[in-house]
Amino acid sequence: MSEFLKNERNGVVYFTSPQLQACRKINHAFFTRKGGLSKGPFASLNMRFNCADERENVLRNHIIGGAVIGAEPSNIVCTNQKHTDNVRVIKGKYVDDERRDEGVDALVTDVPGLCLTAYYADCQVVMFFDHKKKVTAIVHAGWRGVQNGIVPKTLKIMCDEWGTDPGDVLTAVGPSICRSCFETDEDVPRLLRETYGTFAAEYIYKEGEKWHVDLKNITYSTLLRNGISPINIDMSSICTVCAHDKDLWWSQRRCGDERGVQGAMIMIR
Ligand SMILES: [Zn+2]
Repeated sequence: MSEFLKNERNGVVYFTSPQLQACRKINHAFFTRKGGLSKGPFASLNMRFNCADERENVLRNHIIGGAVIGAEPSNIVCTNQKHTDNVRVIKGKYVDDERRDEGVDALVTDVPGLCLTAYYADCQVVMFFDHKKKVTAIVHAGWRGVQNGIVPKTLKIMCDEWGTDPGDVLTAVGPSICRSCFETDEDVPRLLRETYGTFAAEYIYKEGEKWHVDLKNITYSTLLRNGISPINIDMSSICTVCAHDKDLWWSQRRCGDERGVQGAMIMIR
C-alpha cells in the first residue's frame, strides 16, 4: 500500500495511485478543485451537475479532466450517483443508454478508450483494474455505499462476467473522510452493525455523545476479505475534510451544499 502521488498538468492538479500509474494498460486520475473553469463556490474544476453551477462549465470541466488522461470527450461515461448499489455493466462495446432515474453508483467495462467517471466530496471512489482480463471499474461509496456493499458487488460482477481472479485486481481508494471527521449519530453504526455484524465493531467507536466510523479501514478490510491482495491496494490517507491543503478539496461536511465535487476518471488504453 503506497501513498498517492500529486501531479499537475496544464494547471489541473490531480492525484494518482502509484501502482495504477505504473500500469501501462490504464490511465486514471483523482482530480482536485484545481484547473477548471467554474467560478465562486464551484471554482474551479467542478464536475457536479444538478447544482447552481453553469452546466456548460461543468461539461467543459469533464472535457478538461478527460484530456488529462487522454480521453475523447464523446467517450466520457458518468455515474448518476444516488448512494445506490446499482452497477452499470458496459461489455464488448459502448451503447449509450438513458440515465436511469434510480441512480448508478458504479461502472464496469472492458471497452478500451471508455472513460469511467465518478465524483466525490468526502465519499470514497474505488477503482479496480484486472490487469489480466483487462476489465476496469469505478465505484462511488459513501457510508451508505459501504453499508449496501456496492464495492464487493462490483468486484463480484467482474468475476461473474469476465472470470476475474481478485488476485489480479489492482485497486485504488481515493481521498475521503477520515474516522475523526466522520462523526455521526447512532443510526449509522447501527446500520453498519446490521450489515457487517461483529466485523464492523472494531471500526466503530464513541467519543462523548457522538459516534465515529473508520470507513477507510472498513473498505480496506472488505477488499482483503474479497480476495484482493494487500500489495495490490493503494489507499490515499488524505481526508477531504481535514486535509492540510483545504483549498484543494470540496468537502460535503466542511463546505455545505453550495459547492462542487471532485471527479475521478479511469480508462483502459
Ligand atoms: Zn479528517
